[in-house]
Amino acid sequence: MAYNVTLIPGDGIGPEVTEAAKRVLEATGVAFHWDLAYAGMRAQERFGAVLPDYTLESIRKNKVALKGPVTTPVGSGFRSVNVALRKNLDLYACLRPCKTYPGIPSPFKDVDIVVVRENTEDLYSGIEFEKGTPEMARLLELISETTGNAVREDSGVSLKVISEMGSRRIVKFAFDYARAHRRKKVTAVHKANIMKFSDGLFLAVAREVAKDYSDIEFDDVIVDTLCMRLVRKPQRFDVLVLPNLYGDFISELCAGLVGGLGVAPGANLGDDTVVFEPTHGSAPKYTGQNKVNPIAMMLSGVMLLRHLGQTKSADRLEKAIAEVIAEGKSVTYDMKPNIPNAQVVGTSQVADAVIKKLVESSNT
Ligand code: NAD
Repeated sequence: MAYNVTLIPGDGIGPEVTEAAKRVLEATGVAFHWDLAYAGMRAQERFGAVLPDYTLESIRKNKVALKGPVTTPVGSGFRSVNVALRKNLDLYACLRPCKTYPGIPSPFKDVDIVVVRENTEDLYSGIEFEKGTPEMARLLELISETTGNAVREDSGVSLKVISEMGSRRIVKFAFDYARAHRRKKVTAVHKANIMKFSDGLFLAVAREVAKDYSDIEFDDVIVDTLCMRLVRKPQRFDVLVLPNLYGDFISELCAGLVGGLGVAPGANLGDDTVVFEPTHGSAPKYTGQNKVNPIAMMLSGVMLLRHLGQTKSADRLEKAIAEVIAEGKSVTYDMKPNIPNAQVVGTSQVADAVIKKLVESSNT
């Protein structure tokens, strides 16, 4: 049986890294039927929309997508194609496994953190009040009447909105993930000492949900303390669950700890729909150069295989990628920073090397 998967090549370096991931996924022997769809600049050029209806319909139908990074054209009317995609499909959880593999250029070893970021709320609510507008004047009045506080008249305001429902489903997601992947601990990240009614609500809900998962350890940490601890001893963390804004920063920080954007995979998930995509963007300046690292995209493919229940194939592919990294003979430029005249290869040659490992492993 072939799995129906929506394939979105994306923009910039997207088509190159997506092709590399598609090739290694097919080399595992798992059969796919790729439903090609477009988003971003290429979609705008071909179909006059950055997020065509067909793309959304395809993902809704197949429930699984592998997506390359996309460029949000300036003046498209969207703040971000990715935000629009996540809102349309209610992909409320962003999952970022951050793991070091031997051979990766990082000062840290044995890091294995999973960042679970809420995707829909918080300061990304999109509800904003512009300085000097009538709406802002009404808001200033309301704040003054209801709280007695005076906000400076020359202020702009962006609302941080955190709901009980949104908090409950993301914390539950983190615990369910921890249970399914034999993780030991979930840590809720917040700034509840200052933002009592938004982060405070998130923390209260997290504590309540944790009671239903007595098999998994739970603790919480203030986000600034977390930053300090992460750069000192990241190995002490397991699964982190965070509201949207902190999740944005901390997932980048953790990607940096384990080797950078070229090796950081990810997924955006709803209740029954998942879009697998790397952390990095479309890096337009490298378009068509066969230069960038496809490993983040390939590891997103490993996540896809696990999601489909193809555990053995996922393990084989992850092992093949790890071996290529460890050998260091067929890796891209970003894996050998600060080494003059380092021996590096291009995007498609990394895929060739991973496929060779897969073939060798099936022959033994
Ligand atoms: P970017 O991640 O595209 O690139 C930043 C830099 O990181 C690159 O110049 C390159 O040096 C390095 N880099 C990124 N991916 C790499 C890889 N696979 N291998 C080696 N090096 C890599 O970030 P940006 O320049 O801020 O954004 C460019 C475009 O991508 C923007 O239009 C942005 O909106 C979009 N974007 C899309 C997504 C997505 O689709 N998920 C995510 C982030 C940014």
